[in-house]
Amino acid sequence: MAIVLDGRRLAAEVEERLAALIERGRARGCPPPGLAVLRVGEDPASGVYVANKEKACARVGIASFGAHLAGGTTAERVLTEIGSRNRDPRVDGILLQLPLPEGLEAAPLLAALDPDKDADGLHTLNLGRLLKGEPGPRSCTPAGVMALLRRHGVEPAGRRAVVVGRSILVGRPMALMLQDADATVTVAHSRTVDLAAVTREAEILVVAAGRPRMVGAEHVRPGAAVVDVGIHRVPSGGLCGDVRHEEVESIASAISPVPGGVGPMTVAMLLVNTVVGWCRRNGLDHDLGDLLS
Ligand code: NAP
Repeated sequence: MAIVLDGRRLAAEVEERLAALIERGRARGCPPPGLAVLRVGEDPASGVYVANKEKACARVGIASFGAHLAGGTTAERVLTEIGSRNRDPRVDGILLQLPLPEGLEAAPLLAALDPDKDADGLHTLNLGRLLKGEPGPRSCTPAGVMALLRRHGVEPAGRRAVVVGRSILVGRPMALMLQDADATVTVAHSRTVDLAAVTREAEILVVAAGRPRMVGAEHVRPGAAVVDVGIHRVPSGGLCGDVRHEEVESIASAISPVPGGVGPMTVAMLLVNTVVGWCRRNGLDHDLGDLLS
């Protein structure tokens, strides 16, 4: 039976470390770290995600400077909100919650973020830093996957890795991070022919296709570590991922659950990016190197 890549437990450990780090900085007279989550419109899933992020901030001692703007808000108004937080010294991280309502384009708004406060690692400069192997805030979901693998002793160096999905949010940065960790990486997507033949090559398989329960036993090499990034509401209530867990858990050596796998790690890495920025701005050392990809 596969070991569980337990994101909930690792996220709790990360939170403990962040809380201790923040306490030490506060004892030295530093202001608390600050995160601004900007939400536009009424996407119901986003409401849950933003609330989870703000609760996590409160648990570790990060102050929240977010805003919830109405669905019809103009791009100019969103730019004003971003600009004020770029200039606000209390704010160390800014996150624009996606998806945006129809009529608002994400790219120019993400481009307006101060790259050093880009808590989600999605600014073009930070994606370029990732590509070049330079330090900078990393995309939270793939960085969370890397931390999850490492924590459970799944070492990418020298292994065959396959990433299903090539989005800017997950698939592409995931492939770069695995490559940086010396895996040999293949990226599959909707035009890949014979997906199962490709994924069966993988010793590490990361699935971020956004297709409920798409990946089953026929896609998985015996002994592979399988990370399920997908998250979907099922009509009967509850959540499922992109992987059919009941089929894969008896074949894989390790598997991340949904919920409780990648989701909590995404939030934890958002906090990490914020706290690392806060340490830099306040001239504080940190011991978070093992979490940075
Ligand atoms: P996305 O932008 O829709 O990208 C999906 C990718 O999967 C695309 O590259 C697409 O290929 C590929 N794909 C779609 N159908 C496929 C198929 N049948 N075979 C192979 N590849 C296929 O989605 P995303 O933003 O990357 O998110 C992926 C999933 O992760 C979603 O379920 C999302 O909700 C979830 N997610 C979870 C977290 C978390 O914290 N747990 C965070 C972010 C995202 P093309 O490029 O050819 O279209």
